[in-house]
Amino acid sequence: MSEVNQKLENILDCINKETNSMDYNERAMVLLLVMEMLKCAVELDILDTLRPKKERTCKVESSFLNDFSSNHECWYEFELSCGHHVTSDVMEPPNYCEECGAKVVSA
Ligand SMILES: [Zn+2]
Repeated sequence: MSEVNQKLENILDCINKETNSMDYNERAMVLLLVMEMLKCAVELDILDTLRPKKERTCKVESSFLNDFSSNHECWYEFELSCGHHVTSDVMEPPNYCEECGAKVVSA
């Protein structure tokens, strides 16, 4: 927080220096505009954190069975639309991509 305070103080210093030669009305106008900008920036920030994050989803592009019966090994492999491949012991794909965490939705 003190770092932000320091930055704000520096900016205010700059504004004061730059507007030194202006008359009172011009200075007031510049400060007013800066205040409006700050208000907008704060509102945008707050809105951004309040907005619910849309859950990333992906769907199964293709699936196939890897069957190495000779080794008594087989598993299902799913190609997901997020670009990852995941495997499963059962025919159903996992609920989430284990690579990127996207929720796997059907079609
Ligand atoms: Zn993924």
